[in-house]
Amino acid sequence: MTRVSSDPASGSADVHTVWRDLGLPGLIDVHTHFMPHNVLRKVRNHFDALGDQWPLAYRGDEHECLDLLRGFGVRHFTALSYPHRPDMAVWLNDWAGGFADDNPDCLRSATFYPEPGAGDYVAAAVEAGVLVFKAHLQVGGYDPRDPLLSDVWGNLADAGTPVVVHCGSGPEPGRFTGPGPFSEVLSAHPRLTAVIAHAGAPEYVEFLGLAEKYGRVHLDTTMVFTDFAEARAPFPADALPRLADLGERVLLGTDFPNIPYPYAEQLHALTRLGLGPDWLRAVLHGNAARLFGL
Ligand SMILES: [Zn+2]
Repeated sequence: MTRVSSDPASGSADVHTVWRDLGLPGLIDVHTHFMPHNVLRKVRNHFDALGDQWPLAYRGDEHECLDLLRGFGVRHFTALSYPHRPDMAVWLNDWAGGFADDNPDCLRSATFYPEPGAGDYVAAAVEAGVLVFKAHLQVGGYDPRDPLLSDVWGNLADAGTPVVVHCGSGPEPGRFTGPGPFSEVLSAHPRLTAVIAHAGAPEYVEFLGLAEKYGRVHLDTTMVFTDFAEARAPFPADALPRLADLGERVLLGTDFPNIPYPYAEQLHALTRLGLGPDWLRAVLHGNAARLFGL
């Protein structure tokens, strides 16, 4: 059952219990959202317009959200943002750079859009120490095979810099979501370190197949296995052994703070899969620590 706490910070003891019982020093969350204030407001308006379908559990300002995340024991996190039009990515990246300067526990994050100069500003961002990129094919509405992105994917593959890609068709499909278009990017750039957001929901099986085929493709757990997600896009039980085998390339992600349930819900959802403490330790901390050299 999905519970929405009126005092989300009260869930922090539940979160601590999970990582302490595993003997971990805390969590690394590769899929969290921090963005300029006016962009965040638009994102919240979008969820609020869905009414009861998506009652946001966390509505505080940036500082309150940072305090909550740190209070949960999250040692490193990201500041993922993404443009829905041209001439926006550089501005978002400037903001994210300042945010990472102010918050050293944030993994320096950036984004891009298929536009002239994308190859150059992504190369410059990698040079400047960006550790993770975000691409959102549904919100961006672009084709990942766009020739304006070939240098971007090539640069990221060469640098080994991870890119979190929202390419599954959930919660809403886009013209270029689904495994088809992005699988062509991977076949052109087989060494790309792609982190498939939401484990590719709802096309879990197809994206698992891509992770099995390409050794640097990872999956993030964002929202997956929560009661909220299971009611809408259930993960097929017969694919669980494949997720267990992929253990080294599964990373904790949550979508905090834009989630309709308390943070602990994601951890409980992963714990009750029964894949064991070694798998959980890797997913909640070890895999991301290795991937980002933390
Ligand atoms: Zn997200």
